[in-house]
Amino acid sequence: MTTLAASPKLISKAPSGPIESRWTRHVDALKLINPTNKRKFTILVVGTGLAGASAAASLAELGYHVKTFCLQDSPRRAHSIAAQGGINAAKNYRNDGDSVWRLFYDTIKGGDFRAREANVYRLAELSVHIIDQCVAQGVPFAREYGGLLDNRSFGGAQVSRTFYARGQTGQQLLLGAYSAMMRQVEAGRVELYPRREMLDLVLIHNQARGIICRNLVTGQLEAYVGDAVVLCTGGYGNAYFLATYAKNSNATAIWRCYKRGALFADPCFTQIHPTCIPVTGDYQSKLTLMSESLRNDGRVWVPKKKGDTRPPNEIPEDERDYYLERKYPGYGNLAPRDISSRAAKAVCDERRGVGASGKAVYLDFSDTIREKGLDYIKEQYGNLFEMYQHITAEDPYRVPMRIYPAVHYTMGGLWVDYNLMSTIPGLFVLGEANFSDHGANRLGASALMQGLADGYFIIPYTIGDYLADASLPKVKPDQREFRETQAEVEAKLKRLLAIQGDKTLLEFHRELGLLLWDYVGMARNAQGLQQAIEKIRHLRQEFWQNVKIPGSNDMLNKSLEMAGRVADFLELGELMALDALQREESCGAHFREEYQTPDGEALRNDERFSHVAAWEYAGEDQPPELHKEPLVFEFVKPTVRSYK
Ligand SMILES: Cc1cc2nc3c(=O)[nH]c(=O)nc-3n(C[C@H](O)[C@H](O)[C@H](O)COP(=O)(O)OP(=O)(O)OC[C@H]3O[C@@H](n4cnc5c(N)ncnc54)[C@H](O)[C@@H]3O)c2cc1C
Repeated sequence: MTTLAASPKLISKAPSGPIESRWTRHVDALKLINPTNKRKFTILVVGTGLAGASAAASLAELGYHVKTFCLQDSPRRAHSIAAQGGINAAKNYRNDGDSVWRLFYDTIKGGDFRAREANVYRLAELSVHIIDQCVAQGVPFAREYGGLLDNRSFGGAQVSRTFYARGQTGQQLLLGAYSAMMRQVEAGRVELYPRREMLDLVLIHNQARGIICRNLVTGQLEAYVGDAVVLCTGGYGNAYFLATYAKNSNATAIWRCYKRGALFADPCFTQIHPTCIPVTGDYQSKLTLMSESLRNDGRVWVPKKKGDTRPPNEIPEDERDYYLERKYPGYGNLAPRDISSRAAKAVCDERRGVGASGKAVYLDFSDTIREKGLDYIKEQYGNLFEMYQHITAEDPYRVPMRIYPAVHYTMGGLWVDYNLMSTIPGLFVLGEANFSDHGANRLGASALMQGLADGYFIIPYTIGDYLADASLPKVKPDQREFRETQAEVEAKLKRLLAIQGDKTLLEFHRELGLLLWDYVGMARNAQGLQQAIEKIRHLRQEFWQNVKIPGSNDMLNKSLEMAGRVADFLELGELMALDALQREESCGAHFREEYQTPDGEALRNDERFSHVAAWEYAGEDQPPELHKEPLVFEFVKPTVRSYK
């Protein structure tokens, strides 16, 4: 294979040498800041989900002065609270052969060999500390009879390594991180700024030195100065309109930093989760996840016959197709998400889907209920079953759930080096907002692991290395760069309000979402992607001429908030399609119809695409510039990813 030279903008700083000691040796070489000097530095942490709250708590614990910002009225309401199924860690409590190496291997393979080896090994290594940290905070993980923490299995793994708190793992983990952060609020080292939306980054001498926020209650623009900015603003899957994300999740912070010079990596890598409650109508605004953990005990099937409309209990066993078990016997119902999602789409495309729309498959618990009893299911998944029943008015203890894939997670995000710093000095990016660690597909239960590894165990070390060396003259919130950036933000808000067209924001967002779903969704091809780019451009032009945003700027104005986010999605959507178009291979969640094996599996092209694609903004309506960071595999040889 020819070796690609890394773009000079993308120096990963990933260490070399034996993989087991890379992180330790890296930490040993990082510069330190004297404990008494740390309080002189102010760190702006934007976002208080798992990544942000853990980072804020840890940085403040070290002595830094931290300011945190979030959209919600309380940091506890971040989207992380929705995480259901669990968090991976290579503890090997089950004695089933797990190890740091195996978690590393599964994650590299699960991501279809499109992630940095050094990062992924570090993630696996830190996973064991995360569990200890959370237990020490009092996170009530499920326990076995003997008292040890319990585990369950998630897709893409043959060992049981997922720690969980019923179907509320994210909530419990966030309460732990939030409590740690609030301890620091009490100690005076963290200042909370809720109901603030970061709308721009302030650069001074090309360093990140502050942010401009809109106070979402008063509409006032506010400037905040810092020595470094840590973005923890989550993923951008709401670009698709219908998604499992909290409605507030958005791309604005990372997108505006992209426009200030931070490179955006692999924007087309978006995950579509196989087990969500299917869409029921045109006016739906949100989709709901049914956790992957359910696939431990539920069996996925469709009728063998096309167009079979009989209720599930009338379809005899030999007329059912348990297609995941049939096609992927090695992993069965726990095949990874990209593979399971495509398999569901394939059977529905063959007209074997179920339910009124024909766009659903069954997730059936009857065998487990027979074998292990109702109480077992209630104990494991009670709240998920309740949620399903509330939403669909069907009782999943008696009839199989109906599920279909939906947008769930974004592996792409701002490019970061091994220290989690973006291409803008002083701008760090953590959690789902960055692109690191998951490659082209995220295995279940690894987002929480990554966000917490970033916040509790990586940024506390790496930020000091930057601060120790950076030249950081005193700056004031009223100096020229802040005033200019704030004026640009204000002009944009005024421009949006001045349009006063007659099409609603929702209409624009829904149209964009449909375009992305149809052309940049579970299956993509060159023709469709070119069409998507054209159509998104037209939609964007129409938006800036004809959107209707009621109300004014000096008040709580939900429409104005959403308008800025939709405007950003309309730009990001085009970049997602462009990135998907240039990646002429199928890998992980990015499935190009032109590149598949005879039996319909993804066909990678390692020769041409074993790299991170990072895009640089080149100005309004200018094509962005593509930079490449080669991915070198010294420890896990890229092979055809088989789960059979
Ligand atoms: C339904 C569901 C279930 C999931 N279950 C699991 C699971 O079981 N296991 C797993 O590993 N992963 C799971 N995930 C994925 C995981 O929950 C997320 O990837 C993770 O929680 C993201 O954390 P984060 O801290 O990066 O961002 P978030 O939790 O999204 O937090 C973003 C923060 O940024 C703030 N913010 C955003 N924009 C701005 C702005 N412009 N200005 C100021 N503040 C801003 C928000 O207010 C919020 O505080 C699930 C996801 C969903 C949708």
